[in-house]
Amino acid sequence: MQAMKLHNKVALVTGAGRGIGRAIALAFAREGADVALTARTAAEIEQVAAEVTALGRSAEALPVDLSDRAQATGLPGRVARHFPAVDILVNNAGIGSSANPRRIADYDDGFWDLSIAVNLTAPYLLTKALVPAMTERGWGRVINMASVAGKRGLLAAGAYTATKHGLIGLTRTAALETAGTGVTINAICPGATRTVMLLRRLQVDAELRGEPVDKMEANVNPLGRLLEPAEIAELAVYLASDDARGMTGQALNLSGGSTMH
Ligand code: NAP
Repeated sequence: MQAMKLHNKVALVTGAGRGIGRAIALAFAREGADVALTARTAAEIEQVAAEVTALGRSAEALPVDLSDRAQATGLPGRVARHFPAVDILVNNAGIGSSANPRRIADYDDGFWDLSIAVNLTAPYLLTKALVPAMTERGWGRVINMASVAGKRGLLAAGAYTATKHGLIGLTRTAALETAGTGVTINAICPGATRTVMLLRRLQVDAELRGEPVDKMEANVNPLGRLLEPAEIAELAVYLASDDARGMTGQALNLSGGSTMH
């Protein structure tokens, strides 16, 4: 039997109630990790915790609103009540642009602040809180869920693209600052992946362009199909594993070929 890639590691996965975060939590558990799961919707993370437990690993569902700075800074302490240390931090929770799709001249300032808080400030606060102990132990992983929208513009998505570009910047600087300590810090840049967030975005794009959703879906990338959350999770497993110890500060596209630079 092949050895499990994350045997006895502890992972904190934000936004783990559905979509990409859920897929990562389950893939990590299959590779032998215990998982702390967070999101606002308790029922969703409790369901994922039950799925992780069924795979034979420990899981804790910790409801948190990461737009609230006090809750974000309090999260590591809550995780520490259940697990001895966090080896792998996955900053995956995010809010998309489709909840409030406006051009910058007409942007909603409250939505801007909310997007910065969830997509950029929360990853910064969790990195700041958890990475020092990783460097002390000489092993750690941070995986930031950016986006291909962290490398290019997207109509009516000013806050989303700005936060995802920012998250890649945070990834690169944090990687430089931890280089050589046994900690690696990388970003994944998914393209369109079949989740609640993406299906809402496709609807917005279809309306902006006056095209049917199924045509948008077929033209979403050169492969002509949406990616599945499990495909993103495979890359997260690799980055979290020892196999990826030589890679840090990268922002890896996994986008069905929609981005080729
Ligand atoms: P999703 O299905 O909407 O899941 C988002 C997760 O984040 C949920 O568990 C959500 O739970 C949590 N979340 C949102 N706001 C939160 C808050 N204030 N506090 C705590 N948790 C919060 O979206 P997804 O597509 O899986 O997205 C996951 C990540 O991938 C995001 O960072 C997204 O930007 C990125 N991404 C996705 C795609 C795509 O095509 N799907 C492409 C590129 C990048 P609650 O609502 O219960 O809080």
